Amino acid sequence: MALAANPRAPLESQHFHVVVIGGGINGVAVARECARAGKRVLLIEQNDFASGVTSRSTRIIHGGLRYLEYGEIALVRESLRERERLLRERSHLVHPMHFLLLLNENSRRSAMKVRAGLWLYERLAGKHSHRRAREMELKQLERVLDNGHQWSFFDYEDAQCEFPERLVAEWLTEAMAAGAVVRNHAEVLAVDVAHGRAHGVLVRDQISGRDERVDASWIVNCAGPWADRVCQRSSIRTSKPLLGGVRGSHIVLPRFSGSPNAAVYAEGEDGRPVFVIPWNEQILAGTTEVADSGDPARAVPSADEIAYLVRSVAQLFPKAKISAQSVKHAFAGIRPLPHSSDKNPSAVTRKHILHDHADDGAARMLSAIGGKLTTASALARECAGKIGLRVSESNPVAMGPGRALDPLLDEAVLEIARMGAVSEETARGMLEWHGKRAADIARMALVSAELRAPICPHTSHVIAEVVEAYRRECAITLGDVLLRRVPVALGPCWSESCSREAALRIGAVMGWKEQTMGANLESFETERSAFLRPVGRTDVAFEAAAD
Ligand SMILES: Cc1cc2nc3c(=O)[nH]c(=O)nc-3n(C[C@H](O)[C@H](O)[C@H](O)COP(=O)(O)OP(=O)(O)OC[C@H]3O[C@@H](n4cnc5c(N)ncnc54)[C@H](O)[C@@H]3O)c2cc1C
Repeated sequence: MALAANPRAPLESQHFHVVVIGGGINGVAVARECARAGKRVLLIEQNDFASGVTSRSTRIIHGGLRYLEYGEIALVRESLRERERLLRERSHLVHPMHFLLLLNENSRRSAMKVRAGLWLYERLAGKHSHRRAREMELKQLERVLDNGHQWSFFDYEDAQCEFPERLVAEWLTEAMAAGAVVRNHAEVLAVDVAHGRAHGVLVRDQISGRDERVDASWIVNCAGPWADRVCQRSSIRTSKPLLGGVRGSHIVLPRFSGSPNAAVYAEGEDGRPVFVIPWNEQILAGTTEVADSGDPARAVPSADEIAYLVRSVAQLFPKAKISAQSVKHAFAGIRPLPHSSDKNPSAVTRKHILHDHADDGAARMLSAIGGKLTTASALARECAGKIGLRVSESNPVAMGPGRALDPLLDEAVLEIARMGAVSEETARGMLEWHGKRAADIARMALVSAELRAPICPHTSHVIAEVVEAYRRECAITLGDVLLRRVPVALGPCWSESCSREAALRIGAVMGWKEQTMGANLESFETERSAFLRPVGRTDVAFEAAAD
């Protein structure tokens, strides 16, 4: 891995009130909450912030309509409350999204059941959906759906966070602003336990290769699907595994003629929900549920899962002629669901659990299990409360754009464009990804043409955003930048030549020597193809067999 050689302050023998293991959305939320409560906090992430399940999700911010089937009313109520909070506080990153739920004569759910569910969902949300442009959307959808079926349509509102990676980056900078010390590319090798209590952690800094021991009053294990591994390597024995890992896969397709602007929620051939969602100028379709107890870092979609998702989308939209060749890439993540004897993974609760390890001989250590993007902030408040910190229910809108910097407002776009001497498109992109910080980035861009240059010829995002990622958002590798802080490499037309061009442009500003550039580029391409799996010829072969 090509890592920047910037020395980081040593941690050896330092004492922190709270050490958080894992920098996914939950760990970053916990670190932010505890730091804001005035405590000394250390956050350790073995790879990069948001590089785990957080970036493998469907990216919906939702109450979980589906959970009503399992009677999880309290969870739905909490998730809806959190959805509203995110829409209010992070309006540049979390947008309302119109959903169309489809049933046909073969669907397992009845129209009556769905209608009752939606009625309850709206009541729990405390508001009615805005049925925007329903007729137009329905007409457009009817044109591309399989007209051999009798379709019933139900619409409702939820929300989407296209880039949870950016949400995590914002919460991270807020945690640091409140005093948290954060380390990515640093792994917790073990939790130190003595006399029935967790005392600290042994950390390996992947950059310096140095091992350091840190003391802690509290340890919060937010390692997501790695949570059991953290316990095992620390010889903390739980009466049963904390997790029952379930792999979920997605495919990414290009938009097709007539593809819906609304998110479509339909049933797959096995009755499981399948989402087909407009995302990042492409279509994201998922998911699957396959038991997987392997290393979460190696989770990849199987050929069967890809075939199932391709069939599901192709059956819904036969006129779009979708096949395995249409798939741009596929990716998978392990849902860190609580361990359960229930054979049906859909039935396992999505409610998070804070496991207290006092009975496992490791008092003052908590493990966060399960949860969702949507409820990470609620999990963090609950966690801070458990360790005796005073938490405030109301969050200041610290990083979200204030009225004057709302990306939906043309004046804000014009103001940023003028400040940075950049195009309106670039200014809008800056506002959408960086909220209020867009103003600082625009000021930086004004300094030179190199900083105002696009990262690659196909994007309007500029090099100044990359410099911000390295300077203020703890990016270390090129993957940290292009996949998570300024995630242009998730875009529809990114290719190897874009990677090369981006590395050249970034390297020129960052002063990389040729060797550093080559190493950065190579490790980036390795990471990109391990995450966004190209669907090759072998995967195409299954399709004929599956028909
Ligand atoms: C297929 C799928 C679809 C989903 N869709 C949605 C959705 O639409 N909406 C929604 O709200 N939720 C969704 N979720 C759930 C959501 O993604 C997860 O609940 C959430 O991302 C979990 O975050 P986390 O921080 O617990 O885990 P992670 O993001 O995995 O973070 C854990 C981190 O711990 C680090 N780590 C592990 N071991 C160590 C160690 N020893 N030292 C240091 N660091 C370590 C890892 O590198 C990792 O970055 C989905 C999940 C999946 C799998």
